[in-house]
Amino acid sequence: MNFTEFGLDERILEGIYAMGYETATPVQEQVILPILQGKDIIASAQTGTGKTAAFLLPIINKIITEPHDEHNINAMIIVPTRELAVQIAQTMEGLSYFTSVSCIAVYGGGDGASFSLEKKALSSGVDVVICTPGRMIAHLNMGYVKMQALKYLILDEADRMLDMGFHDDLMKIISFLPKQRQNLLFSATMPMKMRELARKILHQPLEINIAVSKPPEQIVQEAFVVYEPQKIPLVKEILRSKDFQSVIVFCSKKQNVKQLSNELKRANFSIDEIHSDLEQDKREQVLLDFRNKKLKILVATDILSRGIDIEDIDLVINYDVPNDGEDYIHRIGRTARAASEGTAYTFVTEREQQKFLQIEELLGHPVTKAAVPEKFGPTPAYSPRPGRSGGGRFQGGRSHHSSGGRTKGRS
Ligand code: AMP
Repeated sequence: MNFTEFGLDERILEGIYAMGYETATPVQEQVILPILQGKDIIASAQTGTGKTAAFLLPIINKIITEPHDEHNINAMIIVPTRELAVQIAQTMEGLSYFTSVSCIAVYGGGDGASFSLEKKALSSGVDVVICTPGRMIAHLNMGYVKMQALKYLILDEADRMLDMGFHDDLMKIISFLPKQRQNLLFSATMPMKMRELARKILHQPLEINIAVSKPPEQIVQEAFVVYEPQKIPLVKEILRSKDFQSVIVFCSKKQNVKQLSNELKRANFSIDEIHSDLEQDKREQVLLDFRNKKLKILVATDILSRGIDIEDIDLVINYDVPNDGEDYIHRIGRTARAASEGTAYTFVTEREQQKFLQIEELLGHPVTKAAVPEKFGPTPAYSPRPGRSGGGRFQGGRSHHSSGGRTKGRS
């Protein structure tokens, strides 16, 4: 579908073409018109589907074509992480470049100067605010935020916000907003708790489902069944095995990020780390270096698994098994984007086997168990208890995907 078919303002079309978009993605096709018509929406759509532009375009269009109060905030977009706030603000700047719509990203971690800047924008009525919940509450509590005329509320990556424990913060923010407003909720998954949140916030929403709950076919997925102390040497071995240009290693805990990152730095790899202990400036710099390919390897916590759009990653290593299948899909979805091939390796220790079996069940097939080189010594057998739904159907080499039991290459 061509963007001209939505009846968007010329200034917005210019922004779209300047961004290099030619035709609308499926999520854009489905949500732009209903948003323009003023409907509430609940959409399951993952990062990479074009969902950011899907809500920004109609919102910008409404702001510039309908009467609005210039001294008040018009739209608020609430997101789980600072990185996502910055990324949405950048897309917003691109799409609204030929309009006079103003926007600010409001997130924690900055210095006093950035707080003052945010305060100034929020009290003078910037058009669009993109914020993380905690920081927004800090401003709201001070009483100067001009939201009496707010018309649009957007929750992005809403499942992530609930997972991060932001439910009460969200409800608190919403208690400050005018009751009469248009609400849009985007979420990669739709668990029960999301439906409950939607019931509290949305008004007769149109439900749209674009979620791709399976990883792209072209990702080569393999698992290494290992003991914990074998992980660091195995990461080094993998990284040396091929000339990878862009690698993300995901860890579940920041202690693991720090430890692995130190080891890899000591071994002279082109590597840096991202986790919540780092200053915002540093996080942005690392992300930029990685995007620009100055840095080949990024070791990160889950902070990066959703919502961040980085192209051309050729290898993802799950240093720890992610907590649920959706997280796994998000993490490995960092590779093989835009139809290129990618590889995703997952390290599975004995105590993580159960969790990994559940992921295999969600995928609907076992993940190939790769050979751990002999020099690493014995490795554990893969013997999780049968899962709830599978009756153990993914164990014991019944499928060509599985080597079953012990890893290959040592006998
Ligand atoms: P998102 O799912 O919003 O994170 O978007 C994923 C990527 O797709 C971003 O790099 C967008 O700039 C890009 N994108 C969004 N809409 C389009 C479109 N209609 N055509 C081409 N690229 C797009």
